[in-house]
Amino acid sequence: MAEHTRVLIVGSGPAGLTAAIYSARAQLSPIVVEGEPSSTTDQPGGQLMLTTDIENFPGFPEAITGPELMANMRAQAARFGADLRTTKVQKLDTSRRPFRAWLSGDEEPSIMADAVILATGARSTMLNVPGEDRLLSHGLSTCATCDGFFFRGQDIAVVGGGDSALEEATFLTRFASSVTVVHRRDSLRASKIMQERAFNNEKIRFAWNTEVTEVLGADKVSGLAVRDALTGEGRVLDVTGVFIAIGHVPNTTLVAGQVELEGNGYVRTGPGSYTSIEGLFAAGDVQDHVYRQAITSAGAGCVAAIDAERWLEAQGY
Ligand code: NAP
Repeated sequence: MAEHTRVLIVGSGPAGLTAAIYSARAQLSPIVVEGEPSSTTDQPGGQLMLTTDIENFPGFPEAITGPELMANMRAQAARFGADLRTTKVQKLDTSRRPFRAWLSGDEEPSIMADAVILATGARSTMLNVPGEDRLLSHGLSTCATCDGFFFRGQDIAVVGGGDSALEEATFLTRFASSVTVVHRRDSLRASKIMQERAFNNEKIRFAWNTEVTEVLGADKVSGLAVRDALTGEGRVLDVTGVFIAIGHVPNTTLVAGQVELEGNGYVRTGPGSYTSIEGLFAAGDVQDHVYRQAITSAGAGCVAAIDAERWLEAQGY
């Protein structure tokens, strides 16, 4: 027999756990399905589990590590009675209420939820080259805003040719001695204004028609092995930092074909965290492709919890 909950939160990054803190304090006794260890993380907790120091989350003047911040948020949610489960929602049916959720291994749905807050986040597209997994967070990063500060005075590379790559490259020139944009073609996908800004920045260089073949280094990045896409000739870029900016993919599999998505695949929300399905709210990187910060995700989780609480009350649940 399936158990019933008023609020089911899917995801345990800053959005999911902030939604959990707020809805637990509102006496909604949320169930939080926090995910399972994966190939890249040994614990749930979202993308912050892959970062080292976080220096821009307000309230931590001496910085805090990503895993520590997530552990604190988790403990805070548990303290107010959120029911955290280390498993995955493998299927969600939002065609009628209460919504039905199948957890890992379930043959039948085991949770019925009046409202669901989807906070499944996004993942950076990766290059899938040797060295990448090993050196992530050890000189290899997917977020310039988060990690740029640690690369003061260094020569670094940014991989990609879109707006994100040029934005990150431009931002990184505040810290780095030089930034080489490594792009697989000879023209950029980025908007003209971003291109102009990058071309006019004397710290930015371009490696055109260049494909990455390996991220080098034993325990921290010591170089980037690349090959010329036209001639096949290989060389090594002498860099101590690499930023990958080749796009993000929102984790929307659970609601695919059910909820309205933006043209770029993110869950469409608004006003607030409302989605096209009544009773389904979305928060964090699964719906935000612009800001993607821990603090904005946490804020979105708070918005979703308040939206869900008010909606439940209006429905008389
Ligand atoms: P994007 O526009 O899809 O660009 C991805 C870039 O990565 C492309 O240059 C692509 O190369 C390259 N790439 C993709 N897969 C690759 C692979 N496996 N190996 C090597 N290179 C690969 O993604 P984005 O830059 O993250 O931008 C996403 C959206 O957000 C866009 O609509 C963008 O305009 C917007 N955005 C806007 C701003 C802003 O206005 N301030 C900032 C950031 C993002 P090809 O060009 O060869 O396909």
